[in-house]
Amino acid sequence: MYRTNTCGELTEANINQKVILSGWVQTIRDKGFVIWVDLRDRYGITQLVFDDQRTPKEILEQVKKLGREFVIQITGTVIERTSKNPHIPTGNIEILVEKLTVLSTSLVPPFVIENETDGGEELRMKYRYLDIRRNPVKDKLIFRSKVAQLVRNYLSSHDFLEIETPVLIKSTPEGARDFVVPSRMNPGQFYALPQSPQSFKQLLMIGGLDKYFQIVKCFRDEDLRADRQPEFTQIDCEMSFIEQEDILDTFEGLAKHLLKELRNYKIDKFPRITYSEAMRKYGNDKPDIRFGMEFIEFNEELKKSGFKVFDEAELIVGIKVENCADYTRKQLDELTEWVKRPQVGARGLVYIKYNKDQSIKSSIDKFYTEEKLKKVIQKSNAQTGDLLLILSGEAQKVRPQLSALRMELAERLGLRNPDVFAPLWVVDFPLLEWDEEENRYVAMHHPFTSPKPEDIALLETDPGKVRANAYDMVLNGNEIGGGSIRIHDKDLQAKMFSLLGFTQEEAEAQFGFLMNAFKYGAPPHGGIAFGFDRFTAILGGQEVIRDYIAFPKNNAGRDVMIDAPYPISKKQLDELGINIIKE
Ligand code: ASP
Repeated sequence: MYRTNTCGELTEANINQKVILSGWVQTIRDKGFVIWVDLRDRYGITQLVFDDQRTPKEILEQVKKLGREFVIQITGTVIERTSKNPHIPTGNIEILVEKLTVLSTSLVPPFVIENETDGGEELRMKYRYLDIRRNPVKDKLIFRSKVAQLVRNYLSSHDFLEIETPVLIKSTPEGARDFVVPSRMNPGQFYALPQSPQSFKQLLMIGGLDKYFQIVKCFRDEDLRADRQPEFTQIDCEMSFIEQEDILDTFEGLAKHLLKELRNYKIDKFPRITYSEAMRKYGNDKPDIRFGMEFIEFNEELKKSGFKVFDEAELIVGIKVENCADYTRKQLDELTEWVKRPQVGARGLVYIKYNKDQSIKSSIDKFYTEEKLKKVIQKSNAQTGDLLLILSGEAQKVRPQLSALRMELAERLGLRNPDVFAPLWVVDFPLLEWDEEENRYVAMHHPFTSPKPEDIALLETDPGKVRANAYDMVLNGNEIGGGSIRIHDKDLQAKMFSLLGFTQEEAEAQFGFLMNAFKYGAPPHGGIAFGFDRFTAILGGQEVIRDYIAFPKNNAGRDVMIDAPYPISKKQLDELGINIIKE
């Protein structure tokens, strides 16, 4: 038997018991007459004690040869500690060791394996298995496992079936680039890895399994923007004989359950906002509503006053930053520079300070009377001490710019508290969006998304105006889930493909199997998929998804631990009939 107990559970209640523990040597403190060793496993740390008086000589010799991260097994007696450590559950006891076996030796680890480490990111990724021994990493993986269990239990108890779908498939409709896998048995042909199980879950609905879910790996070969992973996990779900309302209800229930169980956070009803309202109020389709700073439009108040920048702008829009009227010139200049960076791209920033003494000071004093500025103050409901920040320009550009500023200020003002949760639904997304490069419409969600029935007529006349039965769940400024009611009518689906610029042959080649299935009785259906990594991270009070993935890839899409991707041998290439052309 390797252990009678874990390293995290012995307390005063166990004093005088004989125990066997196994684990890793975290630290060794040798005071000459007494040596303490911290023994660590997944569950915690237990202090071992060896001393001149009580420990057999040969064991003392053995202890002197131990090194950090050796795996050992000890037998000993639980005794009370003289100097107690109130910070850990085992802090009142230690083990007087009678027998010690080295199960495995260790090289000196490349970084300190403690809560605070001296290892840089790259080094820790290379030795991820050592990093996983550290609490901050280990705890996140344990948390992730808990989230997965809760999701499984919740959905299973609501009659969802957990069904796996294949990984070697054909291109899926999510619109990103596919990862492809050459087929040895079918030379010159390739599988695509699923960007999501979208088509399969719809086929399961046609198969009559009316509630499906899967915690599933998805693959998208995208340039890795900050904190994206080329392979990531979704909680993928689909239901039949439902309407949008049923889906929102079911998955709001799931999210509430997770918030309650994991964070003891109770939320009554998730607010809902339409896509167009979200854009107008927050310049963003995944608004962070943990704080206010909603957009206020000032076209009426600020146009036609001879200030050319505003007179020519399509939209003049600002935010109210509470209690910041005392920002210095330097701070405002810095913010102006911030919005002018290419990443944001604003041309300038206008401020209006409503000072504590009720005076008004702005960067556009020259062009506006105090009375006019007062109107602006009134409209924004500003109190003395508040600051207004205003951008102007083309509506489509200025809204995202102001959104970036809003988020930045919230960050600086500490309004993005990770322990506060503000979920909402964004609904009524446009069905299509215009792709400038391709000069055609593309599906905003994916081509199986159903238009709102009342907007179907617009498909012919004004496709850009058609709204979809599509929805996103947003949590703390992140899109954590998205889905739609699907088209289940084969003619409407065909029309959709043609709107998206597919010829009949192309649609047939790519999605013929699904179109064909629709000919055999497709139930009305719809679904949603959650980004499991991000949802977990946010529930854990963090935003970096990499920390919640056991073996993540770096920003270049590499696994630096196993060193992948990696060239394959000539023999393998030959078998696949692939010839690599060297540049
Ligand atoms: N397949 C979609 C996605 O991955 C989700 C859905 O429509 O259910 O975004």
